[in-house]
Amino acid sequence: MKISSRLIALKYKCAYNSLLYINRNNPKTRQYQEEGLKLLEGRVERLPDKIAFRPKFITQSSCVKIFDKLYLFISKANLKKPAEEKYDALFHEIGHWLHFPQMPPVSECIEIWKGADIAKIEKEVSTRAIAKNDGREFIAEVFKGLAKGKKFDDYIMNLYRSLKGPKIKPAGNAYSSPKGVSL
Ligand SMILES: [Zn+2]
Repeated sequence: MKISSRLIALKYKCAYNSLLYINRNNPKTRQYQEEGLKLLEGRVERLPDKIAFRPKFITQSSCVKIFDKLYLFISKANLKKPAEEKYDALFHEIGHWLHFPQMPPVSECIEIWKGADIAKIEKEVSTRAIAKNDGREFIAEVFKGLAKGKKFDDYIMNLYRSLKGPKIKPAGNAYSSPKGVSL
């Protein structure tokens, strides 16, 4: 590993430790995390055990790989969102997190993405799904939709599968929204 990547990793590690501190001491963020993860419980094979909440001056949520670990950073701004959008960032980042270990090499993703119907994806998935040129945002956005019970047609699902999008079980009896949360 290059020195520069090690420095970046250390910087994130420091930020991560302090963010966990914020999380532990804020019952609202803890509640957000527990509710959000509960909505996915039993629907995916595994869930992250640690989620950090970024300080409010950082607005973008993200998922980063540091050495062999993956971390989710979720902006606190999500807490104030309406119920139907509240967990969007959490589901999106968990989509990335689950995608990382099984993702094809980026060069392969770019090749697959070259043939994608961008207009259709923008309309049926989201504008965010067409960001970047490798389909990784598409995976996170489709995962988010599936987590919320959205159905996509064969074209979208085939593309999702060819980019090795994470499997998710459909919402069934095992899945119910926590009280007061509607998706
Ligand atoms: Zn993303």
